[in-house]
Amino acid sequence: METVIAYFETIPTLHRSLILVGGLSFFWILEGPFSLFKLKYNKWQHALPNIFFTGTTILINLLLAFLLLNISDWAVSSSFGILHWLPDFPLWSDVLLGVLLLDFIGAYLPHWTEHRIKPLWMIHLVHHSDHYVDTTTANRHHPLESIVRFGFTLF
Ligand SMILES: [Zn+2]
Repeated sequence: METVIAYFETIPTLHRSLILVGGLSFFWILEGPFSLFKLKYNKWQHALPNIFFTGTTILINLLLAFLLLNISDWAVSSSFGILHWLPDFPLWSDVLLGVLLLDFIGAYLPHWTEHRIKPLWMIHLVHHSDHYVDTTTANRHHPLESIVRFGFTLF
């Protein structure tokens, strides 16, 4: 477990990029012959606007990552945060709880909120307005959506 954590603490940018691009490419190719529904559309033409939105998401998240890193460093040095306030548990349970909390607070909660508050829904609609849902739809987000999700992740 410590080896895995050490790797992800110092993961090279190239590895991170390969995981992102490789994972998306793998599933995009895989869903061709093994898709649940056979849609008749040009996958390359469909992917272009979604890749553009993926690029804007990466750019905005890259800019916000510096702020998140500084705040994370402050939280660790100040022993601030839910995991610091709980009694000591085994490392694996801290990792599991941390991932679940990050997913709930940084992904599920903003998504749920975007479906319930109209101005946020108008931003999130970019994601749900894709005519053909495939792997590239996962990162089809309005640039402001990254800022909304970032706001949730900070807390
Ligand atoms: Zn949604």
